[in-house]
Amino acid sequence: MAKIGLVDVDGHNFPNFALMKISAFHKNQGDHVEWADAMFGGDYDKVYMSKIFTFSPDYPFQFDCEVIKGGTGYDVRSRLPEEIEQSLAMDYSIYPDCNYSLQFFSRGCIRKCPFCLVRDKEGYIHPAEPVDLNPKGEWIEVLDNNFFANPEWKSAVDYLIQKAQPVKLHGVDIRIMTEEQAYWLNKMKLKGNTHIAWDLPSMDLTPKLEEVTKYIKPYKLTCYVLIGYNSTKEQDLFRIETLRKFGIVPFVQPYRDFENKRTPTQYEKDLARWANNKFLYKSCSFEDFEPRKGFKCKEYFK
Ligand code: SF4
Repeated sequence: MAKIGLVDVDGHNFPNFALMKISAFHKNQGDHVEWADAMFGGDYDKVYMSKIFTFSPDYPFQFDCEVIKGGTGYDVRSRLPEEIEQSLAMDYSIYPDCNYSLQFFSRGCIRKCPFCLVRDKEGYIHPAEPVDLNPKGEWIEVLDNNFFANPEWKSAVDYLIQKAQPVKLHGVDIRIMTEEQAYWLNKMKLKGNTHIAWDLPSMDLTPKLEEVTKYIKPYKLTCYVLIGYNSTKEQDLFRIETLRKFGIVPFVQPYRDFENKRTPTQYEKDLARWANNKFLYKSCSFEDFEPRKGFKCKEYFK
C-alpha cells in the first residue's frame, strides 16, 4: 500500500476535480491518501500538487519523494496520467463540506477566442464521459466550456433530467443556441442563473437574446461582459444597457491576462463596481455613478 499526499495549492475553497479523481483512483488501488503538508513531514511515496490559478503562489515547501505537479496554474497543457484521466471515480470525501457535484459532458470548445486558453488547453470540443456524482450532492455544477456545442448535448440533457437534481450551467453560448436547445434548457431543473457571455463587442447579440428570452426568463440569465479587451467604453455600455432592456443580469469582468500581469484601469474597476452591484446598477446610470467624491463617471466619456 502506497502513501499518497495531495496538495491543493489554490486552497480548499472550491473542490478540485483532478485531486478528487486522483484520490479515488489511488484509494481503489488500496493506497492511503491524505492531504499533505511538508511542514509536518508525512513520508509519502508520491505527492500530487494541483494549481488551477496562475495568480496562486506556488507551494513553498519541498517533499522528499516523487512530486507530480499539474493544473493550468503550472502548465496549460498538463494532463493527468492516462489511467487516472480515464477513471470515472471521484472521491468527494476529501471535501466533506461539499454538498454538490461537479460534472463535465465535454471538454474543449468550438471557438478560439483570443483571450481564452480553452483551445490550447483542451483542444476542439469533444464529448467526455460523466464521472461519479457526489453521494451527498444536492445539485450538479456543469462546468462544460460550451455545453450546447457538444455534438452529444442531448444525451447530457437526458442525463441531467434523469438525475432529477437542480443543475447549474456555466457555459452556454447563445450565439449557437437553437430553439430546440432553448426548449430543453427550459425543461431542466435549473439552479440559480444560467451563465451566458457577450464577450465580443463587435457582435450584436440582440436578436439572439430576443430568441432565448422567449424560452428562458431573462432574470434567470447572467451574462458575462468582458471589458478591457479591444472594446470601447461605448461598446461596453451598449452591451450592459441592452442586457438591462431585456432584464438579463450583467456581470462585468475586466480582462486579465494569463500571467495575471495586467491591472484593470480605474474606468474598468468603476464600471465593474457599478454593474455588479445590484443596488447601484438599479439606482443610477453609469454616467451618474459617483465612485469618488466629486467624480461622476460621465467624465469618462468626455
Ligand atoms: S467560447 Fe468561451 S470557452 Fe470557447 S474559446 Fe470562447 S471564451 Fe473560451
